[in-house]
Amino acid sequence: MSEPIIVLEGLEKRYGSIRALEGLSLALPPGPIGLLGPNGAGKSTLIKLLLGQLEPSGGKARIAGFDPTRRAERLALRRKVGYMPESDCLIPRMNGVELVTALGQLTGLTPSDAITRAHEVLDYVGLEEARYRGLDEYSTGMKQRLKLAQALVHDPELLLLDEPTNGLDPKGRKHMLELVHDLGHAQGKSILLCSHLLPDVERTCERIVVLDKGKIRSAGSIEELTRNEESWVHTEIDGDVAAFRAALGSAGLQFEPEGAWTQRVRLRAGDYDGLFELAARAGAALTELTSERSSLEEVFLDALEDGVEKDAAEKDAAETVAAKTNAEQR
Ligand code: ADP
Repeated sequence: MSEPIIVLEGLEKRYGSIRALEGLSLALPPGPIGLLGPNGAGKSTLIKLLLGQLEPSGGKARIAGFDPTRRAERLALRRKVGYMPESDCLIPRMNGVELVTALGQLTGLTPSDAITRAHEVLDYVGLEEARYRGLDEYSTGMKQRLKLAQALVHDPELLLLDEPTNGLDPKGRKHMLELVHDLGHAQGKSILLCSHLLPDVERTCERIVVLDKGKIRSAGSIEELTRNEESWVHTEIDGDVAAFRAALGSAGLQFEPEGAWTQRVRLRAGDYDGLFELAARAGAALTELTSERSSLEEVFLDALEDGVEKDAAEKDAAETVAAKTNAEQR
């Protein structure tokens, strides 16, 4: 396996009494990775720690080989890492080229390289015509693309993208996801895509890390995590319904009749062909097959649910120990 691009060792962050991150340990290989979790999970805190904008309360992180808590390494890591923040980082009096050039120089590019690269990346994100317009005239979609352009100006190895589709209309969202996909696949960049939107991650990433209440609930390649995952599919058939349902039962498949011709069937990811064959053998044809949730959604929701149960069990165990200690002391 290639060198990990991000390594966390017992990484902790507290804000006063709030434990935002609780001892995260993880090694992530290069490639496009989705950092998923509900609001308040700790995603932005993790990104800020990786960039050295916050100090950890405990543990360590390494990103692109650097320790972000050390000033000298932090400067070096800025050359290798591009950051697209969630909030606006734009200076209204500037135009697109001026802003991207200025930020390019901050990453260490010479003025002439910065200007050449600014034009290239503005073209890449589809802002070639708007490049000389003042930023106060930019729409939300244009601002998001400009934020991506400035993250790319120094051709970094790793991109940290914080909620890149926020505020975008469906067309803008599709375009942004195409760019992120292209960067992570055709251009071979490593990406940490921070999002609360699972479909965004599903379309663009190869691995996921699920974070909730400051803890890692699941991590791994999407292909491996979803391989054996079961989900409910709605089916409608034309033909002998009774024979079809009997065949489902004999095949050991869990199902629930819905209407005269429809039923929900619990299926493993990718087992659709088997269901078509089973229907044909029972003298029926499948006329509709739709998934209630994608396999990744099942993995994500299971990971959150398991986390809640684990937290409750740990709390119970801690309370039992505390009660026992109290009783012994009396
Ligand atoms: P996410 O990005 O997943 O929404 P955050 O990292 O912003 O999560 O927040 C994680 C937790 O830390 C939340 O409980 C949040 O309220 C808390 N938090 C974040 N920033 C601060 C801060 N500056 N001061 C106090 N609490 C904070």
